[in-house]
Amino acid sequence: MNVPGAITGLYPGTFDPVTRGHEDLIARALTVVESLWVGVASDTTKEPLFPIEDRVEMLREVTAAEPRIRVEAFDGLTVDFARRIGARAILRGLRAVSDFELEFQMALMNKHLAPDIEILFMAPDSTYSFLSSSLVREVARLGGDVEAFVSPVVARRLSERFAGQRVKRGGAR
Ligand code: ADP
Repeated sequence: MNVPGAITGLYPGTFDPVTRGHEDLIARALTVVESLWVGVASDTTKEPLFPIEDRVEMLREVTAAEPRIRVEAFDGLTVDFARRIGARAILRGLRAVSDFELEFQMALMNKHLAPDIEILFMAPDSTYSFLSSSLVREVARLGGDVEAFVSPVVARRLSERFAGQRVKRGGAR
């Protein structure tokens, strides 16, 4: 059996925007891998709120204190990016059973495309098991307080992003 040396991991996602749930997963990943790339997908079927540059920037700001993390945008297949950077493992988060089906389907496809790369699933602290970027975007859009769910840099960007819209809506009333 091959005994692995220092493992490089890839945590891919849309991160639109990065939440405390993602941060929790990143902290857990660092206890397992030696170095971690956070890959921000630019090819996505979702229409993101934040452009790719902003999503990367926010992640870089929230992970700035950890030298073992590198944040980069990527396009194309996740497994191709993983190969390019020499990652042995792709890390994904599972919040609830509802995540399972799609994540498992994706994992099997990725195993088919790249049998040499392992997919590791991690569960967040239960505090974050309800948390998603889409929920955070929705609460922020409606003017709710998201400070508990995202880091201050992200909360600031969200309120800047929606400030104009709220003024417009308020003005129309
Ligand atoms: P994607 O569009 O690839 O699902 P996301 O940015 O929404 O990208 O999520 C990236 C990964 O992080 C996914 O595996 C997702 O299940 C996981 N994730 C997102 N939010 C949480 C959370 N609160 N707790 C644990 N895992 C999470």
